[in-house]
Amino acid sequence: MQFISTRNPDLSIGFGAALRQGLAPDGGLFVPAEWPHHIADIVPRAKEILGVGTEDNLAALARQVMQPFCAGDALAPVMDAICSEAFNFPAPLQPLSADGRLSVLELFHGPTAAFKDFGARFLAATLKRLQVGKSRPLKILVATSGDTGGAVAAAFHRQPGIEVVVLFPKGLVSPTQERQLTCWGDNVRSCAVRGTFDDCQKLVKEAFLDADLANQFDLSSANSINLGRLLPQAVYYVASSLRVFGATGERASYIIPSGNLGNATACLWAKRMGAPIAEIVLAHNANKTVPDYLSDGVLRPRPSVATLASAMDVGNPSNLERLLSLYPDAAALRGALSAHSVDDAAIRARIRSDYRRTDWVSEHTVWCPHTAVAAEVYERLSAEQRARGRWVLVATAHPAKFREIVEPLIESPVPVPENLARLFERPVSCVEIDASLAALKSAM
Ligand SMILES: *Cc1c(COP(=O)(O)O)cnc(C)c1O
Repeated sequence: MQFISTRNPDLSIGFGAALRQGLAPDGGLFVPAEWPHHIADIVPRAKEILGVGTEDNLAALARQVMQPFCAGDALAPVMDAICSEAFNFPAPLQPLSADGRLSVLELFHGPTAAFKDFGARFLAATLKRLQVGKSRPLKILVATSGDTGGAVAAAFHRQPGIEVVVLFPKGLVSPTQERQLTCWGDNVRSCAVRGTFDDCQKLVKEAFLDADLANQFDLSSANSINLGRLLPQAVYYVASSLRVFGATGERASYIIPSGNLGNATACLWAKRMGAPIAEIVLAHNANKTVPDYLSDGVLRPRPSVATLASAMDVGNPSNLERLLSLYPDAAALRGALSAHSVDDAAIRARIRSDYRRTDWVSEHTVWCPHTAVAAEVYERLSAEQRARGRWVLVATAHPAKFREIVEPLIESPVPVPENLARLFERPVSCVEIDASLAALKSAM
């Protein structure tokens, strides 16, 4: 399989090369040159493959999902090992409503308690293998609005031949997130940028196009612009939709907390591969570039505004370019997904009220602010829309990552999972830089 740039279908490269480069040389994003429909073949066997009511065997399924994409590439023979290394924690689907029509897909059981662990671990397992025998270290630049940097740092920490530079907007990530970005040392360096996430992202893009840096380092990106993060994220959509289909014979519909649209793109790609998925609904915070675009057809990228769901504070989502390469305008995109925007007041109210509700199967549901956006969007669907779907809320982070926000709302402590507690014991270090390429260059 070849991968092409969103800006030029003639610019095509193999799987490993696309992962190593991150961004296409023309500034575009890599997408598969063609779409295999291989998951459709396993849908009729959904029940036996996954076993209804059992833990998904994600690693085994990941191998099947990835197979056509790495076919013919030097990575193909080691893909089984990569998948076992990356998918070593579960993505359980938990029922919420008593009638079973609403459930939550928990993507926060990895090392840094957010869904980004899946993609980051896959990318690390891959790049590490591509790095064997290379003389220069690979330098990974990653811009983060909070969770990406932690997941990437955790996944690449102490991997031989690889150095990581994490850029985050100073003062705009939660204290818990900041610890996760700055507690690594060794081959991981953290920079607090005086600016927004969009500034950080712009810096990374500039660094890639800079001839000077290209001469000095082998650069790669670990942002969701990297195909190596996106493709593996399709795996948990394939797994959970097969699970719903195996149990009910119905296709699953997803509500996805969205910012840079990596997770949403992965869901759409899973559907393209033939996963039994019905509706895809994007849940945005007050940064509503995408909902606005879908409603009036005019794309207006804008500076991000700070919200409680900070990992989704994106005013110019990178992966929109990938969505638009499949659906060229707003009308076409509207046929594939819908999008809503939720403000901070509604996020707070939703965390408070879902903690106290009594009509769900378990008591005291606690959302992180991002997942609360999805829970709120579910409540805003029409009764008819709710009744016709098998709805899955995508839980993108563990609430303990945002205890400063969540605990006062539920008036109760949030238990900290063991993974996170371990990170809190490490010493922190970080440098502060201006949002300029010159400042980044000297920090590198
Ligand atoms: C990154 C992140 C999001 C947004 O995901 P995208 O792929 O950028 O749309 C949502 N929730 C959490 C907790 C995140 O870390």
